Amino acid sequence: MAGEAKRPRIVLLGPPGAGKGTQAELLAGQLGVPAISTGDMLRRAVSSGTELGGKVQGIMASGALVDDATMADVVKDRLAQADAKQGFLLDGYPRTLPQAQTLEGILTGTGQELDAVLLVEVPEEELVRRAVLRGRADDSEEVVRERFRVYREKTEPLIGYYRARGLLYPIDGNLPVEKVTSQMLIALGVNG
Ligand code: AMP
Repeated sequence: MAGEAKRPRIVLLGPPGAGKGTQAELLAGQLGVPAISTGDMLRRAVSSGTELGGKVQGIMASGALVDDATMADVVKDRLAQADAKQGFLLDGYPRTLPQAQTLEGILTGTGQELDAVLLVEVPEEELVRRAVLRGRADDSEEVVRERFRVYREKTEPLIGYYRARGLLYPIDGNLPVEKVTSQMLIALGVNG
């Protein structure tokens, strides 16, 4: 294709602590698309004391998920912004099957579609080790466990959903950061 290369629309999927946030920043930089982290957006809403922040603060602190309707509003608004019109990298959305359907609806409605879902795979023992090392004050062991439980129950079904659509690309996340990024670029067919 001559002229401007098409910028991809990507979803990053993976368990808590798999390194999605780090990879999202690196990959988005390489691809020239915005990294959109719903977790970061919600944390900003909490720290700036908006109505949304007040609504989600307790839910986030418990490790539970914010409801799908609230998240649909957040993501619709964000994807409608100019910088997301030509590609984006979503980190932390979708996290449930209804969210995946919402995303499909948003994109179809604007004549777009996803190009790839990168599944960052890390062995469970390594995830536990990372969670302990991180040891953020707000991450009690109980909350970490709850995040894993929620991931298994609500988010893992997305793997099959996207595999069935031919969009799923498993990536070994148990490698040095730059190796993970380069595998992602290879999966996307971009020369890294
Ligand atoms: P994250 O930084 O992606 O781990 O998100 C931190 C927290 O924000 C999660 O544990 C949820 O409480 C909330 N959150 C972020 N994204 C979503 C989403 N797509 N659906 C529901 N809750 C979300």
